Amino acid sequence: MKSDYYYMELAIEEAKKAEEIGEVPIGAILVSDGKVIAKAHNLREIEQRSIAHAEILAIDKACKKAGTWRLENATLYVTLEPCPMCAGAIVLSRIKRVVYGASDPKGGCAGTLMNLLQEERFNHQVEIAKGVLEIECGELLSTFFRKIREKKKRSRVE
Ligand SMILES: [Zn+2]
Repeated sequence: MKSDYYYMELAIEEAKKAEEIGEVPIGAILVSDGKVIAKAHNLREIEQRSIAHAEILAIDKACKKAGTWRLENATLYVTLEPCPMCAGAIVLSRIKRVVYGASDPKGGCAGTLMNLLQEERFNHQVEIAKGVLEIECGELLSTFFRKIREKKKRSRVE
């Protein structure tokens, strides 16, 4: 079995693909029995779909591929802590474990703002490992937003 770091690196590669096309750099990987069953990155701007988050896209791909909505043995690796929508999809897909990099103080629902993944009143709870390659995942995002701010500043000056 490969380590969480190995798979998080793959999620970071996905996040970089998002960055290359001007999307907020967030990437997700789904792994089952040591195999990568889906990879995805954020496509919200390009698709103009509020739901086109990396996790949702990865879950959708994996379900189509496996022919089932149940991803009971799967581990989801994602560079940023899941939002409420993605946390909901994770619970509803019966994903076993979530590993995330950076925490999200503005939307994180895997422990930061609330913990939907381990809400006991739901019929499924998810194991969580947080902070895996946290600095790399966080820097991808902070660099991306800094560049946007600089671009805006420059365009104001011109
Ligand atoms: Zn999300």
